Amino acid sequence: MKYSHFFKYSLAIFFGLLLYACKDSDSPTGSFDILITNGTIIDGTGSKEFSGDVLIRADTIAFIGDVDLKKVEVDHIINAKGKIITPGFIDAHAHGDPVANADFQNFRDMGVTTIALGQDGFSYASENLSPWMTQIDSTGLGVNVITFVGHSTLRELSGTNYSVQPTEEQLASMQEILRQSMKRGAFGLSTGLEYTPGYYAEAEEMEALAKVVGDNGGIIMSHMRNEDDDQIENSINELLLQGSYAPVHISHFKVVYGKGQERAKQLLSILDSARRAGLNVTADVYPYTASYTGIGIVFPDWAKAPNDFGKIKATRREELEDFLRKRIMKRNGPDATLFGDGAWRGMTLTQVSDSLKMPFEKVLIDVIGPEGGSGAYFVMNEELQTVLIQDSLVCVSSDGSPTMHHPRGYGSFAKIIRLYVNETKSLELTDAIRKMTSLPATIIGLKKRGEVKVGSKADLLVFDPLKIKDNATYEEPHQYADGFEYVIINGHITKSPDAIVTERYGLFIRKE
Ligand SMILES: [Zn+2]
Repeated sequence: MKYSHFFKYSLAIFFGLLLYACKDSDSPTGSFDILITNGTIIDGTGSKEFSGDVLIRADTIAFIGDVDLKKVEVDHIINAKGKIITPGFIDAHAHGDPVANADFQNFRDMGVTTIALGQDGFSYASENLSPWMTQIDSTGLGVNVITFVGHSTLRELSGTNYSVQPTEEQLASMQEILRQSMKRGAFGLSTGLEYTPGYYAEAEEMEALAKVVGDNGGIIMSHMRNEDDDQIENSINELLLQGSYAPVHISHFKVVYGKGQERAKQLLSILDSARRAGLNVTADVYPYTASYTGIGIVFPDWAKAPNDFGKIKATRREELEDFLRKRIMKRNGPDATLFGDGAWRGMTLTQVSDSLKMPFEKVLIDVIGPEGGSGAYFVMNEELQTVLIQDSLVCVSSDGSPTMHHPRGYGSFAKIIRLYVNETKSLELTDAIRKMTSLPATIIGLKKRGEVKVGSKADLLVFDPLKIKDNATYEEPHQYADGFEYVIINGHITKSPDAIVTERYGLFIRKE
């Protein structure tokens, strides 16, 4: 008996020593660029937070765990005491010109380290994206950028334009440009079926393009044909048809003038049953109840290009006035339309109508016109949108840009934390972080980003979630967010409390 006790005891010591030895040999040695220490890590997967240090070497996360300062040499130490360390945020649907506005400080200051451009059917119009990508590589980017290929752009490049049906040759040309663009690094197709010329496309064309996307491992990001409450099921079903060939994604999921939690649940259940049937369908949502787009959104298709608006004004005036009156009233009335550019910037349609002493439908026809400006439209319902945001396969986007007159381009990601996590508590912090990091990375097919993980690219944030503040408002939309203390992109500190960084460390990321 004694012998066996002794044996067990020795065995325990032996394994104890072995464990200690392993732990010891695991602790890193050598030189690194950045150490983030004393912080709490939220890794982006939705798992519970844990404490640990992060070591970065070049552009990569080299180690996560306990770091013995005596054993490493580091160029830069970030003390993250009382703060969290998360992956940089990934914006699944963004806008902006990577040549004219390459700094993208609006995105960086709300914690975004990668944005997805080429949305809503419109992308850089060239059959060969490579020279454009190379030009952007050389001028640099404030955040990482990826692109989709726009369906309307394909229609333009192939000469299909406003035709309902492309010729066989035009369809083949769209497929070929899409295939080549994806080979050169685009992540898939974006559609904007609510906008012309994409609007004219029928199912056959969309499925032919979806096949190319699926064959090349991409995804279809869709601004659906119609987001109105009485049309959205049809729009979702139209997208799901393409889902037989490729993963499909609803961009800026919303229900225009729909209301209530139940309505959101009904729509989410359509997506759930599609998933049970084997389709890969996801969505993104931005946290505001006003949309933003060209004023053309309220005009009927028969009054927009390629139809001649001047002629329509002369020949179908009464019909057009009637259409606009009803459409605006359905979209919560003229108070709910706020102009974002041009001479009427900052005024609602009611205010413009009052100041000109003209009925609002006449203002739209005679003063503004279908191409006469853009605006914010207060057409969404907070309760409904919150249920959409909470769904486990819905990620966050901004749908914003550096220049757009809407707060979402400067506030979205900060607002998710400030409002949904801190104030209303409708999202857990770890869940909110997942929706802004690993979930969009997985949806888009972006490799090695969106997680705090050894071997991943070092796109990281250090911040105190209670100090996050979105400052952008509808009146003053171009206000940077506060609270993201450190923003690290590709292993470089690009925002820090100690210094103003003007170098651009973002990359044009090509699909592998
Ligand atoms: Zn859109």
